[in-house]
Amino acid sequence: MAEYITEQKTMLLTFLKSNHDNAFTVDELTVAMNSSYGGKAPGKSTIYRLITRLSDDGIVKKFAKTGSRCFVYQIVGEGDCHNHLHLKCLDCGKLIHLDEEISEELLDKVKMINDFSVNEDETVLLGKCAECKIYNQKKENK
Ligand SMILES: [Zn+2]
Ligand SMILES: [Zn+2]
Repeated sequence: MAEYITEQKTMLLTFLKSNHDNAFTVDELTVAMNSSYGGKAPGKSTIYRLITRLSDDGIVKKFAKTGSRCFVYQIVGEGDCHNHLHLKCLDCGKLIHLDEEISEELLDKVKMINDFSVNEDETVLLGKCAECKIYNQKKENK
């Protein structure tokens, strides 16, 4: 039984790692797991249990989904997050990994203009993600 859980945990982690730019609800994860692994995929209650564990362990971050009571889960970058900047949405907490090339371009410009070396590991640009902006616009237009 324990081994079975480990296998499902690996499936979930593999999926989250290959989609580390996105955050998912448990429902979305259930659907995605099912289409990737079919009958071997963990069910919703197992995913919920696994993701809660991963979140407790700090491997996955839990955010309140914009405009709903759902929670979304996103894997926290591991190791390879030292070579790019991050954007963090202040509304939903989503972390966006900026493309390495773009990060470098930005930092090069800062360095050129101010001769200032930005610490990439410590720097997070705060703002609002596309999803939250659309949500807010809709709300205002109502
Ligand atoms: Zn990253
Ligand atoms: Zn957002």
